[in-house]
Amino acid sequence: MTVSSTLTKYGLTKAFDRLYTDPEKNLASLMDWADKFSKGLYPGQRKAIRRAIEDPNDPYYPFVRHIIRDIDPEVMKTVSTNFFIQGNLVSGPRREKLRKKYNCNIPWAILLDPTSACNLHCTGCWAAEYGNKLNLTYEEIDDIILQGKELGIYVYIYTGGEPLVRKDDLIRLCEKHNDCVFLSFTNGTLIDEDFADEMLRVKNFVPAISLEGFGEATDSRRGEGVYDKALRAMKLLHDRKLFYGISCCYTSVNYESLTSDDYWDMMIEHGAYFVWYFHYMPVGNDASLDLLPSPEERTYVYHKIRKLRSSKPLFAMDFQNDAEYVGGCIAGGRYYLHINANGDVDPCVFIHYSDSNIREKRLLDILQSPLFMAYHDGQPFNDNMLRPCPMLENPDKLQEMVKRTGAKSTDLESPESVDHLCGKCVSYADKWSSRAESLWEERKEEKASKAGQ
Ligand code: SF4
Repeated sequence: MTVSSTLTKYGLTKAFDRLYTDPEKNLASLMDWADKFSKGLYPGQRKAIRRAIEDPNDPYYPFVRHIIRDIDPEVMKTVSTNFFIQGNLVSGPRREKLRKKYNCNIPWAILLDPTSACNLHCTGCWAAEYGNKLNLTYEEIDDIILQGKELGIYVYIYTGGEPLVRKDDLIRLCEKHNDCVFLSFTNGTLIDEDFADEMLRVKNFVPAISLEGFGEATDSRRGEGVYDKALRAMKLLHDRKLFYGISCCYTSVNYESLTSDDYWDMMIEHGAYFVWYFHYMPVGNDASLDLLPSPEERTYVYHKIRKLRSSKPLFAMDFQNDAEYVGGCIAGGRYYLHINANGDVDPCVFIHYSDSNIREKRLLDILQSPLFMAYHDGQPFNDNMLRPCPMLENPDKLQEMVKRTGAKSTDLESPESVDHLCGKCVSYADKWSSRAESLWEERKEEKASKAGQ
């Protein structure tokens, strides 16, 4: 750690100590401190946070107080320091510098699958496609993190498989890399008292529990009794004042239930602080096309999530519809990349094509490989931020990139050709395009009118 980042961290610790002695008085000064150390980075995000802190009419005003009141202060300090300070303010300028130096993407986060093993067998899960036998060793994950930190990457997100099959190793990694934050998708069924206590001890592990909706919807995909086990996990986390969230994949079948007021009330009541929404992706040779939301269904989700998050205390990201906040597709190392349990480095958790394996190449070399450079050079894939994806909304782009770079399918169970995958998205992309155009025009007018106020 550099002298400057040590001082920054020290300053934040002091600012937090003051915050907890008198939150109302010291919230604004915490933000003053963040502004001072941001060196002009993330102006939009800082403005939004300041509004949430200072403006009682801002929908996130009560949410900020809820976070301070209800999350364990030491967990809050650790996650904030590692996520905002280490992951953004301190390392952001370093990543920027490296981006320019190497003329390639340098990600903010790395998604990785510690294992392809899972204790459940959910319908349509991409983990099932990789089979049940692959693992990144503790030493390999440690090395990925060490390489990542050299590049200024302090946020690591576990997918799988069920990452908590490896929970002892994950806790060891939290201890060793106590300047990083580790988020983990999980079905929640392996969170027990001991593991929740361990999370409270290490303070830098944040789970996102996957749900399909209420009991029937979750159990019908994930197995009988899984919903109740997930609720039990949520209670264990809530009782320990831990920071956690929910992850959901919306389809043509569950989109209404997942975006209902009742569902949001349930998540809030169980102590969740954030929810990540993912649009169903028809990935894999056997993927169902019937589950793809229609343009009307996606539009419903777009409006409903915006309405809910402006009125309820839960931070929500709707990844396929929120690309405007991050300038389009975030994959290919622009904000993140994905390393599967075989070491293959995919540009995205949904795009299972690669020209590189972490067991054979250094991370920086992979970011400069033909496929990752094709992402770098092609982003954004569309000026319309409601059509961000080179697969789902612009399937010709992924087809072209994979063929040009010679990337191979990383699906070890049933390799899918890029023509097959992208062919499934053509009709969806066509139908969505006109709706996306009108929604995007509306959105631009809305932003222009807000800016003029
Ligand atoms: S490749 Fe598609 S799904 Fe992946 S981050 Fe980019 S837009 Fe999202």
